[in-house]
Amino acid sequence: RAKSISHNSYFIYEEAMADTIRAHLTLGGGLRKAIEEEQFELFYQPKIRLSDKATVGAEALIRWMHPELGMISPDQFIPLAEESGLILPLGEWVIRRACYQLKEWREQGYPAISLSVNLSGRQFMQSDLVEMVSQVLAETGVDPRYLELELTESMLMADAQQTIEKLHAFRALGLTLSIDDFGTGYSSLAYLKKFPIQTLKIDRSFVNDLGVDSDDEAIVKATIAMANSLNLKVIAEGVENHSQIEVLNGYHCEEVQGYLFARPMSHDDFSVYMNSHLMGASMLSAVH
Ligand code: C2E
Ligand code: MG
Ligand code: MG
Ligand code: MG
Repeated sequence: RAKSISHNSYFIYEEAMADTIRAHLTLGGGLRKAIEEEQFELFYQPKIRLSDKATVGAEALIRWMHPELGMISPDQFIPLAEESGLILPLGEWVIRRACYQLKEWREQGYPAISLSVNLSGRQFMQSDLVEMVSQVLAETGVDPRYLELELTESMLMADAQQTIEKLHAFRALGLTLSIDDFGTGYSSLAYLKKFPIQTLKIDRSFVNDLGVDSDDEAIVKATIAMANSLNLKVIAEGVENHSQIEVLNGYHCEEVQGYLFARPMSHDDFSVYMNSHLMGASMLSAVH
């Protein structure tokens, strides 16, 4: 009985919290003000190469550091930013912040790691998106090879001819393109041939039950085999345990991302993480 009461009050708390967030977002243009005041931060989640466990990249994941509500996750405000059109200035902020971060890592002498940025549907439709990215690259002097864009299947389905042109324009700039949450959208295998994509990110929902559910394992196996024959790199997202790693290793998945290795980290925590990993690497080379 006590248990159900505490569950209920937790539920009520969650609901109240959601209401508060909604009220803040809708009343007084909270999101617009937040953009003006730059109440956002990028967190960074490492991408690990399975063969040697090296950190070869990171994904930038936005957080809203709300002055009263604390940290708000992107699932709670990206849809609102999309609806209101504020995703355009917000998305530009993300790309600029990511490029300045790449510049800082390079200046600090970190080994070259790539950084990926998530795009949203409306942002991808933006007519001057390619120009904006190109301008930010010029402004920061970042080598475009290290900037990666994460797209979703739904973006690639809409308006095919313009989409292809946009993707080629990004490739011409030197960027890397990946498909995020692969397998969850309306997947047409034909577009993998048609579009200039380099990487597939297998969605967390298929990785979740690896080692438990044989259907998910079949899907992961087939995706990796297909990616290999199309010369695409594969990353599995949401890796949380060793039995998932065992399965992924067995099928020669190249890279992984997930809580088992590291959570998304603030700028400062990511520096600590990188320094300790570099220390590990130089100690190893000292031994050899
Ligand atoms: P996503 O791009 O698929 O990012 C992966 C999400 O899974 C992230 O949630 C990450 O924190 C979480 N994750 C990573 N490893 C694990 C794991 O081992 N277990 C579990 N349970 N989760 C894991 P997050 O940071 O809350 O982001 C959610 C979504 O919000 C992202 O999904 C992406 O679609 C969107 N998003 C994040 N940042 C941005 C951004 O700057 N712009 C846009 N347009 N969307 C963004
Ligand atoms: Mg992503
Ligand atoms: Mg994803
Ligand atoms: Mg996802």
